[in-house]
Amino acid sequence: MKSFCHSGFRTRACPGPRRGIIASLAALFAAGLLIAAERDDERAAERKAMVEHQIRARGITNRAVLDTMLGVPRHKFVDAQWQRQAYDDHPLPIGYGQTISQPYVVALMTEMLELKPGDKVLEVGTGSGYQAAVLARITTNVFTIEIVEPLALQAQKRLKESGLEEGRVRPGDGYYGIEEHAPFDAIIVTAAADHVPPPLLQQLRPGGRMVLPIGPVNAIQRLVIVEKGKEGKVKTRTVLPVQFVPLTGGARGPAGKESTTGGKAGGLER
Ligand code: SAM
Repeated sequence: MKSFCHSGFRTRACPGPRRGIIASLAALFAAGLLIAAERDDERAAERKAMVEHQIRARGITNRAVLDTMLGVPRHKFVDAQWQRQAYDDHPLPIGYGQTISQPYVVALMTEMLELKPGDKVLEVGTGSGYQAAVLARITTNVFTIEIVEPLALQAQKRLKESGLEEGRVRPGDGYYGIEEHAPFDAIIVTAAADHVPPPLLQQLRPGGRMVLPIGPVNAIQRLVIVEKGKEGKVKTRTVLPVQFVPLTGGARGPAGKESTTGGKAGGLER
């Protein structure tokens, strides 16, 4: 007699409800994976367009920087409400009055650092963690520090996936650098001060370079490269006008030392 498998008894011809359920769940899971993979592919196409039209078109040529920007999923570093705009040509809010920098600015600052694999890098101003993830694909020896504690903790989680263990992503005032891991081959500061923080200059290895925005709060600043010669002599060069959120903490003088909130938002970076 022909069996239609709806009796509830398990036979060779009729695997029973459990197997049926398992098969359905497996099919659903596979479909879910497929959809997720397709979505990631879609975003890969957006990353490619971002690199071509916003980054390469503006003169970035460093192969490692271009490849890295193609690979890092920027949309995973912003809140759900901003993810659609993650590959657009502008900064985005990340909460606490702070921003994730425009993709071009991230690429430019990374290129300016002239990193080699193995270089030890300090980032001041972790924010979303995106810039640190970009750095970590070029050299695994990255430390990053963020004064707004909830941002630092959120970035710690995100950056685990990029291979940065918790101790390398720390809450604190980056104006003072990270003494115990100095000297650094390169330092990148992603918030603006009206002077080069002396502790950071001191923690830069002779022969190293620091990239940072210098200028008044809430106004146009200069993106500069500070090069420390082998003999310790310091040279500074301006590359571009920019507008960054302010460096707080020690950058604001003795009163600012107490600040752990990151201060008010300034304009957005170019
Ligand atoms: N690099 C970040 C990214 O990829 O999302 C963007 C950083 S946002 C433009 C600047 C960050 O610097 C903010 O998150 C701000 O809280 C942080 N910041 C400001 N002053 C700081 C300080 N003294 N020490 C550490 N971080 C600071």
